[in-house]
Amino acid sequence: LSTDSEVAKREAESISRRTLRSNAEKFEFQAEVSRLMDIIINSLYSNKDIFLRELISNASDALDKIRFLSLTDKEVLGEGDNTKLDILMKLDKEKKILSIRDRGIGMTKEDLIKNLGTIAKSGTSGVIIGTAFVEKMQTGGDLNLIGQFGVGFYSVYLVADYVEVISKHNDDKQYVWESKADGSFAISEDTWNEPLGRGTEIRLHLRDEAKEYLEEDKLKELVKKYSEFINFPIYLWASKE
Ligand code: ADP
Ligand code: MG
Repeated sequence: LSTDSEVAKREAESISRRTLRSNAEKFEFQAEVSRLMDIIINSLYSNKDIFLRELISNASDALDKIRFLSLTDKEVLGEGDNTKLDILMKLDKEKKILSIRDRGIGMTKEDLIKNLGTIAKSGTSGVIIGTAFVEKMQTGGDLNLIGQFGVGFYSVYLVADYVEVISKHNDDKQYVWESKADGSFAISEDTWNEPLGRGTEIRLHLRDEAKEYLEEDKLKELVKKYSEFINFPIYLWASKE
């Protein structure tokens, strides 16, 4: 019993130190993904706002997927809060964390490794498209088009230097994916965060230059701009300073 809480305490400390969890399984990013992340991390691109468009779009896709499944099988939605198909954004000004949580389909451990580690996508031309984008970017392409190339997620590294993805899919336990964009990512079973029920929470540990995304007004403006064609409610919750 005490061991569990000690582990949790150590984990909490490690998170505040922004170091990856020590007991996690480590993976290397596919070479193209690493190259893309390097480009994004070092980019002087000024329109960093686009990361939020990508996150909202992914949350909406995930909600669409669970809603579609629920048409033939109501059970997949579960009960209570799990049935609410919405998006919640949270600002933690003290810890400098912006998080976005959806009650969508979520990702299994295998999904996390495949979807957030490789550009390849089963049955689509994702490999060619994503790789083409990396090539374009190396010769000064337009980062704004990132979403069209199936690699929009990685735009989070325009504003964050450490990202955690906590996810719970109906078919698996809750996992944490984390990366500091240094060529590798880590995955571990999540035994310390609140259970999500179902869905995904993306936690962006913001870079010093990206503190503007902790301002409520800035976030409201962006959500308004990017949610025009989103069919799910988006809530914004800000902590007091
Ligand atoms: P795209 O959305 O074009 O497929 P992204 O780079 O934005 O490309 O996302 C990669 C993949 O990661 C998605 O296809 C999806 O499978 C998975 N993913 C990203 N965000 C979420 C989320 N919030 N919920 C579930 N799956 C997600
Ligand atoms: Mg996307």
